[in-house]
Amino acid sequence: MSRKIEEFKPQNPDEVSFYTCGPTVYDYAHIGNYRAYIFNDILKRTLRFDGFNVLHIMNITDVGHLTSDSDEGEDKIEKSARLESKSAAEIADHYTEAFKSDLKKLNIIEPKIWCKATDHIKEQLDLIKVLEKKGFTYQTSDGIYFDTSKTKDYGKLAKLNLEGQEEGARVEKNPEKKNPSDFALWKFSPKDQKRQMEWESPWGIGFPGWHLECSAMSMKYLGETIDIHTGGIDHVPVHHTNEIAQSEAATGKQFVRFWAHNEFLLMNSGKMAKSEGGFITVEELEKKGFDPIVYRFFNLSSHYRSKLNFTWEALQGAKNSWEKLKGKFLDLGQQNGTPDEAFIEKFKTAINNDLSMPQALVVMWDVFKSNINDFDKRATLLEFDKVFGLGLGNVDEDEVEVPEEIKKLVAERDKARVNKNWEKSDELRKEIEKAGWLLEDTADTSRLRKKD
Ligand code: AMP
Ligand code: ZN
Repeated sequence: MSRKIEEFKPQNPDEVSFYTCGPTVYDYAHIGNYRAYIFNDILKRTLRFDGFNVLHIMNITDVGHLTSDSDEGEDKIEKSARLESKSAAEIADHYTEAFKSDLKKLNIIEPKIWCKATDHIKEQLDLIKVLEKKGFTYQTSDGIYFDTSKTKDYGKLAKLNLEGQEEGARVEKNPEKKNPSDFALWKFSPKDQKRQMEWESPWGIGFPGWHLECSAMSMKYLGETIDIHTGGIDHVPVHHTNEIAQSEAATGKQFVRFWAHNEFLLMNSGKMAKSEGGFITVEELEKKGFDPIVYRFFNLSSHYRSKLNFTWEALQGAKNSWEKLKGKFLDLGQQNGTPDEAFIEKFKTAINNDLSMPQALVVMWDVFKSNINDFDKRATLLEFDKVFGLGLGNVDEDEVEVPEEIKKLVAERDKARVNKNWEKSDELRKEIEKAGWLLEDTADTSRLRKKD
């Protein structure tokens, strides 16, 4: 993608078509996953800031994603249903709701359309029929497969070198596959076991392969060629590669004009992942006293194409900065002036520089340091927040977190002032300032601010 986003031209000048691979709803999403969705949100908000309408859709994977992430193993949703003694639909509904609730807490704007794989079985079957007619499929004992050797440029996104490619070590070898990179479009239900989710098809009862849903739903809602498609970087070599192969084989047209992938959130130097055991949820952040917005703010400190290392200390650092930002913003008062044009231009340059949030944050701190008046500063920052999405406009005094010991000192000092004990009041003020807080006295009380 031209990394100057304002130069981007959608096919329809009035609207950008934008597809995001959504979650597989078999468990709670972790904050690594939310790095991907925060990045999507920043991209969408930037496009809007640049004046585009955005038709954004996101899928919910509620069938077909197998435990191997390939064509073998148990369906992740059915496995959770078995372990939690619930129906597959109950599992999918529960984790979908949890996902949407987390998005809200992270101030991520919902897509215009949500689409579930199980609601689009017909579209997926229709796509397989087209591929079959065009000679891209073959049948094995366990399903219908896509023959990757029939496409002229399989793997172009990842620049995969297919010669000598072996199936991954984690994946059981399937001797019936013609090429290691071939993938299932339709899998037959096992003969010895009844699946909860299965459908009739011209080839036998079964369920769709994981990659198929994104192609089928993207084409249904956004057309055969879409402007932007996003996901985490792990989707490049398999999931997105296969989406391209099957979509372009079916339509003969380019599937996606611009791909954008985010790098991983790391923890203990490895990718944060459910399979690695060590992962953190939004609920856990809250339990440890972190507003989820702090995690959003933490994400702004890095570029989406760089790895980001998660530690609790780093998150605490983001929290301190966020508290400082809220305090400084409140100091500007409640009245809005006019956004400062020069700063807006600088901000636009930063966000359009491949979504450089670190650069945009520098512009934000520069606004505070500048000599424009407080009302205009406030209005300018509220404009920036349309992209940052921190909810600055809703921050109120009570939200600035003050440690308990400081609150106690302030209360003691207020009492000393009421009793006209000026000596004690001065002593306490010094103590409060030493701890990094400034006090402004009003007629009958005092107001606290974090020092720069
Ligand atoms: P999944 O539910 O596993 O399909 O993942 C949902 C999204 O999160 C995908 O776009 C993944 O690429 C992304 N993702 C998974 N783990 C991480 C991570 N540690 N850091 C950033 N993105 C991730
Ligand atoms: Zn997808």
